[in-house]
Amino acid sequence: MKVLKFGGTSVGSAERIKNVARLIIERGKNIVVLSAMSGTTNTLVEISDYLYKHNIDGAKETINALEKKYNATLAELFGDNAAALEAATTEIKACFNYMRSFTKDLFTVFEEKEILAQGELMSTAMMNIYLQSIGVKSAMLPALDYMRTDKNGEPDSQYIKQKLTALLAKFDDADLYITQGYICRNAYGEIDNLQRGGSDYSASLVGAAINAEEIEIWTDIDGMHNNDPRFVEGTDPVDELHFEEAAELAYFGAKILHPTCVLPAKLNNIPVRLLNTLCPSARGTLIHNTTTPHGVKAVAAKDNITAIKIKSGRMLLAYGFLRKVFEIFETYKTPIDMIATSEVGVSVTIDNEKNLDHILDDLKKFGTVTIDRDMVIICVVGDLEWQNRGIEAAALDALKDIPVRMISYGGSNFNISFLVSKQDKVKALNLLSDHLFKNKKNQ
Ligand code: ADP
Ligand code: ASP
Ligand code: MG
Repeated sequence: MKVLKFGGTSVGSAERIKNVARLIIERGKNIVVLSAMSGTTNTLVEISDYLYKHNIDGAKETINALEKKYNATLAELFGDNAAALEAATTEIKACFNYMRSFTKDLFTVFEEKEILAQGELMSTAMMNIYLQSIGVKSAMLPALDYMRTDKNGEPDSQYIKQKLTALLAKFDDADLYITQGYICRNAYGEIDNLQRGGSDYSASLVGAAINAEEIEIWTDIDGMHNNDPRFVEGTDPVDELHFEEAAELAYFGAKILHPTCVLPAKLNNIPVRLLNTLCPSARGTLIHNTTTPHGVKAVAAKDNITAIKIKSGRMLLAYGFLRKVFEIFETYKTPIDMIATSEVGVSVTIDNEKNLDHILDDLKKFGTVTIDRDMVIICVVGDLEWQNRGIEAAALDALKDIPVRMISYGGSNFNISFLVSKQDKVKALNLLSDHLFKNKKNQ
């Protein structure tokens, strides 16, 4: 059995839902993980924002506008099938009425999570009823009945496996299964979620729990491209990536894949395939445990980075300095992305400024501290074993006209990272494409 995950744009309209229905029927008995229709989760965030601010009218207007959109989709999806239209309308109406119930009481983070869960609950209800209306025996696997995190907020793999196995056995005679991405319950049974974009993570966790043959992530592009298609023209899909390469790209900004998705698949050695709903015959990208020696494979960029430099005469020939510096970041639960050291100083980058003031205060005990904000990590990924010659030189040559604040190389066999200013990001991505990929194509 495979796990097939479809993102928001793939189920973003009645036509797209029908298209996905065709695709999943053709592929047989698999588990289909769905995101909310595109734009819905953002609107649910907006509704919650109004509720936090006690702007009840704003919340109601936004709920009404969203409901209108859903009703139009239902009308198009079910046409003159009155029974199915009524069944779907009843379910969707219940979700909107549930959202309206929050306009009366106190609104906290718990209520927000319940509102955010409605997007996936609605998209899966629509798909399930649509499939049944065209004679497919689809069974709903409610994510809130099996997807759970533990007290540390980590997925509770044992629980997920046990509950999911029982649910599958219960609906053994189904043609296929539908389930929600993104949503879960926490260790206390409250409704929670796996963070924005987390449906990819759901798919990977489901895949791991059932030891799936493959996890397919279906989206609006034909696989992982060798550069960010939002900023570079003429990018190409990459045929194959090692799990580590995919993890680096996802973490450093390749939005097609949520970074958390890689680990459960990698640990269980389940291949992940990135595919395009709009062009199902495209080969896409296969992510697996095998390294293909093709030098540089792709480039990605991560925004909103802050670089912190700590310079200290005391670092010279001293031991323990780095530990003291890292402990400060640990105390404030702030992960470090890049590091560069010299004998008299160290530079690190972070992507979360929540505790920056405290961190700076503590670091100043150890040396002179300077920061650079609005930086971007440009990450060059591929088979970059140190014995392979010329790759670092080619990447540096591409960036020769751009001021580079930090370079990190050798932390893994898969990545070289450059830290540049935000205003140089698009130029840097394009120069890297020209030097690393297009020149090769023209040879
Ligand atoms: P979904 O809603 O299906 O989860 P996402 O919007 O999360 O889809 O991810 C798909 C988008 O990721 C693409 O439309 C593309 O613009 C963006 N993207 C960013 N970097 C890359 C990349 N390197 N390769 C492919 N797509 C990328
Ligand atoms: N619907 C959620 C979001 O928009 C989860 C997802 O699409 O992966 O973030
Ligand atoms: Mg996504």
